[in-house]
Amino acid sequence: MSHQVPDDGTQLPLMEEFYTIQGEGFNTGKAAYFIRLGGCDVGCHWCDVKESWDAELHPLTHADLIVENASKFPGKAVVVTGGEPLIYNLDYLTAQLQQKGIKTFIETSGAYPLSGSWDWICLSPKKFKAPVPSIGQAAHELKVIVFNKSDFEWAEKHAEMVGPDCKLYLQPEWSKSKEITPLIIDYVMQNPKWEISLQTHKYLNIP
Ligand code: SF4
Repeated sequence: MSHQVPDDGTQLPLMEEFYTIQGEGFNTGKAAYFIRLGGCDVGCHWCDVKESWDAELHPLTHADLIVENASKFPGKAVVVTGGEPLIYNLDYLTAQLQQKGIKTFIETSGAYPLSGSWDWICLSPKKFKAPVPSIGQAAHELKVIVFNKSDFEWAEKHAEMVGPDCKLYLQPEWSKSKEITPLIIDYVMQNPKWEISLQTHKYLNIP
């Protein structure tokens, strides 16, 4: 049995929602309501939210309820993440959020075509399922997770996909961060179009 997720985006498989601080990338340090949707077929072996992969484990929730919950908090920004949130049509959810004056940020691997209206698009491509080419030009931020040395070359290939104003970040994969962070520091000093992104929420011990 699979979820019958309606195409109109009015109901979405919701894994969790919580108010916290965005820990990584351009919006680091900003208060935001996280909306984590279930479902992902990208299959990163180092994924730290494998519980998100099976959409059927996560209840279909009306987007109006998600918007109502997000509106209760003073930080008027949401981060829609997953899983891979672009599996779903996000037009309805983002329109309702923006109507309430809430800024919409997304974290996506780009493996599916873009839907929704976004104030900030963070494209974090993964080796295991390539991003659709059209998403590169829409991205405000390219965030490449560095797991080993060869990922720098891979990051440069993806930097060619994005527009000239797109911010470029290299972020150490958490379990390898001791080994990888010094390499990223050297790389950014040699290639300053890139910046370092750290998963500061993990250092702060917040979700
Ligand atoms: Fe996990 Fe994200 Fe990779 Fe999906 S795209 S497997 S949720 S890290």
